Amino acid sequence: MMIARLGRVFWELKFVALILMCCGGIIIFAKTMEGNKTTFACVINCMDGRIQDAVKNYMRGNYGVDWVDMVTEPGPNKILADNQDVPIIENIKKRVGVSVHHHGANIVAIVGHFGCAGNPVEKEQQIQHLRQAKKTVESFGFDVQIILLWVNGDFKSVEKID
Ligand SMILES: [Zn+2]
Repeated sequence: MMIARLGRVFWELKFVALILMCCGGIIIFAKTMEGNKTTFACVINCMDGRIQDAVKNYMRGNYGVDWVDMVTEPGPNKILADNQDVPIIENIKKRVGVSVHHHGANIVAIVGHFGCAGNPVEKEQQIQHLRQAKKTVESFGFDVQIILLWVNGDFKSVEKID
C-alpha cells in the first residue's frame, strides 16, 4: 500500500518535471527567436566609398540597428531635390521599398557629404538639397522616420541636420 502510494507520487513528480521542462524549452525557444530578430535602417547614401563606414557606424550607434541597407547614387541629395530624373527616382523608391517592406526598416536617412563629386557645392547648399530631398522621399508614402545627415571632410564624423 505504502509502496504503491510512493510509486504514484513518483510518477506525479515526473509528470510535473516534464511539464516544467516543456515550459522551459518553450521559453528558451522564444528567447532565441527574439535574439534572432534583426533590425534594419535604410540609407539613401552617396556612392562615395569614403563615407560608407561612417554612415553605417552612425546608424548602428545612434539607432541601435543591426544592419544598414545602402541605396547609393552619386549626390543623391541633388537628384532627390531636383526630382526630375524619373527612372532614377523610381528606382530609389523601389530600393527603399525593399528595405522598408522586406527588412522592416522604419528609419530612412538621406546623406550629403564634404567633397561630393555628384553634388559639388558647398555644405550650406547641400543642406538645402537635403531638406528638399526629404520632401521627395516623404512623397514616396512610406511609414518611416526620415533623417538628414552630413558627413564631414574627415570622412568619419557625422552630423544630424534634421
Ligand atoms: Zn558624393
